[in-house]
Amino acid sequence: MYSVLVIDRMESSYLEGLTIEREILGKEASLELCRVPDESKIDGRLEHADLVISWHAIGLSAHSIRRMRNCRGVVRPAVGYDNIDIAAARQEGISVANVPDYGTEEVADHALCLLLHIHRNVTVADRACRAGQWDWRVVGNVKRLRGLRLGIIGFGRIGMAVAARARAFGMHVLFYDPFVPNGVEKSLSVERVEDLEELLRSCSVVSLHVPSTPQTRAMIGRRELEAMPNDAILINTARGDVIDQPALIAHLQAHPEFRAGLDVLADEPRVPAELRECRQVVLTGHSAFFCDASLVEMRRKSAETAGRLLRGEPVRTIVNLAATAAREAPSELGRLRLVSAGE
Ligand code: NAD
Repeated sequence: MYSVLVIDRMESSYLEGLTIEREILGKEASLELCRVPDESKIDGRLEHADLVISWHAIGLSAHSIRRMRNCRGVVRPAVGYDNIDIAAARQEGISVANVPDYGTEEVADHALCLLLHIHRNVTVADRACRAGQWDWRVVGNVKRLRGLRLGIIGFGRIGMAVAARARAFGMHVLFYDPFVPNGVEKSLSVERVEDLEELLRSCSVVSLHVPSTPQTRAMIGRRELEAMPNDAILINTARGDVIDQPALIAHLQAHPEFRAGLDVLADEPRVPAELRECRQVVLTGHSAFFCDASLVEMRRKSAETAGRLLRGEPVRTIVNLAATAAREAPSELGRLRLVSAGE
């Protein structure tokens, strides 16, 4: 029997006794749920695990990874894997796989939801009605959505799903992503922009869909915010650190017509007082991924990926290519050709 360690934070109730995981892996693995407040408390158990499934806030640093002496793989039940030291895992011969496709529609729906909510001034109207003011004029100057320019930064799975939805609303969609092949803009009837600043200058709404990497961290800073129109809307359902948060707070304070929809923040779950008190901002507490079906899909796909890693079968979602050299099994050689290049 393999030994699978499922790590999650203390207060989480997602995993309900590992029912889905046991249904998929129960015949070949014993599963242990380890709920900890942070990574430093995963004592003793990492050393014996053949595979680790690492949920949400609990990261795996190089220090933890070096303790995982039996481990064949780590599964991150999410798109983003920025809290796993994938380079250290590569050195130790441990494959890290994510689950990139469980909630593409939900995050895209959520980005559009924030966009429409802010654009139509729903919070202001709601507050006014509750205060006894039944008057459409409270929403202020609302522009027609059809024809507005939406700039998408990061044109992968979610960025493209946002484009499809925004086009249905009649928006003019542009994107900035140097890594997608030429011609995608033709397939999806959108416009490609080669220069980030040009996109920021020319769009009324900007939506972020890049992963958190050394290149994207703080890619939206003071200079980029200044490039945007003063009454623009910025949507972030990607990762909090893609925006330089202090620069955003200063920009909101200096530009009362600038608005932002933020599902993710730099230091979650901490919400700085300046954002909590700011009426130009809508916050949704990293809930974009969630719906009943996406959570089940995420758990099912994580367990299925874990099973394939344990059995040495091909896995398309490995994010640390060439990881397996150190602990190579013959069947894994073929797999190296199949793995994805990650994000
Ligand atoms: P994806 O890998 O399909 O797309 C990311 C795109 O960003 C790629 O096309 C890549 O080329 C592009 N990119 C990378 N670096 C860039 C750069 N420097 N400049 C411009 N473009 C760059 O990923 P996805 O499935 O679309 O997910 C996007 C992000 O959304 C994830 O990385 C994750 O962090 C975030 N996410 C958030 C939630 C949530 O609940 N809020 C849920 C799922 C995913």
